[in-house]
Amino acid sequence: MLSKLDTILSEAKELINSANDSSTIESVEVKYLSKKGALTEVLKSLGKIPGEQRKEVGQKANLIKKEITELLDAKKSSLNISSDSSKCNFDLTLPGKSPRRGGIHPIIKEMYALNDAFHSLGFEVYDGPEISSESFAFDSLNFPEDHPARESMDTYWLDGYENNSGANRLCLRPHLTGGSVRYMLQNKPPFRFVYPGRVFRNESTDASHERAFFQYEALIVDKEVPFSSVRVLVNTILEKVFGRTVETRMRSGFFPFVEPGFEIDMQCLVCEGKGCSVCSHVGWIELMPGGPPHPNVLKAGGIDPEIWQGAYINIGLDRLVMMKYGIDDVRLFHSTDLRFLSQFN
Ligand SMILES: [Zn+2]
Repeated sequence: MLSKLDTILSEAKELINSANDSSTIESVEVKYLSKKGALTEVLKSLGKIPGEQRKEVGQKANLIKKEITELLDAKKSSLNISSDSSKCNFDLTLPGKSPRRGGIHPIIKEMYALNDAFHSLGFEVYDGPEISSESFAFDSLNFPEDHPARESMDTYWLDGYENNSGANRLCLRPHLTGGSVRYMLQNKPPFRFVYPGRVFRNESTDASHERAFFQYEALIVDKEVPFSSVRVLVNTILEKVFGRTVETRMRSGFFPFVEPGFEIDMQCLVCEGKGCSVCSHVGWIELMPGGPPHPNVLKAGGIDPEIWQGAYINIGLDRLVMMKYGIDDVRLFHSTDLRFLSQFN
């Protein structure tokens, strides 16, 4: 065994001396020092050698291992090879890969654009929590206790609050309007503000319906808020969003929190009014319900309806973005499909 070690050392010395490139050095390293290298094999077999001899062979093997390592290091430095680069098989002169850059989601982008547009018209931007209560979502918005709309909103009620009611029954907000009451309770009129955000409905999804989607609501409260000025405001905002005049129509609608209620539809820009899956083949998209706040809603916000009046506008933000870019399926927004999302960066 001792003579075998002498042979290993002399062979290794010879190979190292004659080596003049990194791949030869590497192969010597593998041949003697790797897990299956000749020297490692000797050290592994020590258990089979009798007592006294084992000690002698072990010591000698370790000395040889040290000597070969030192010789390899000396050779590497003489050849100007660092330990790391000797293991590097890459061409370091190749250009690097630039990391993929993130971008802002198209809905959030549009939200920011609307914030700017409304801000330039004197509106404050307000934010409220996504978890609401029955009190803000329904009670304060003039929904009678047995009103079917409470059920038709398909609200996600939070577990553990089933047996409570009012402020103690929590839900994911089914609409933003409850947030306006929070604002009214904290501020004195006159004021005008917008409050964008995500809302949640437990309903089946299709090309134009999602369980989580974005709304963009505005409320003006003043001593006099003429209907005509609301119409002008809506048209101004739509023009800013689309960069051109958009066909709209106004019709009456019923919502418990407004009196009288209206709905503004815009002509479907995906099909230019011809009919497609986005507009359910009618050529028009319900874009924003609204109307003057019901006196009970103003009262819930601590505002005297005898002195103050107002106007709500509630924009369906997802639909607005779909119209702007001609997107025919709302589910794409939450699909996390980077091929879709990267188009907007
Ligand atoms: Zn259409």
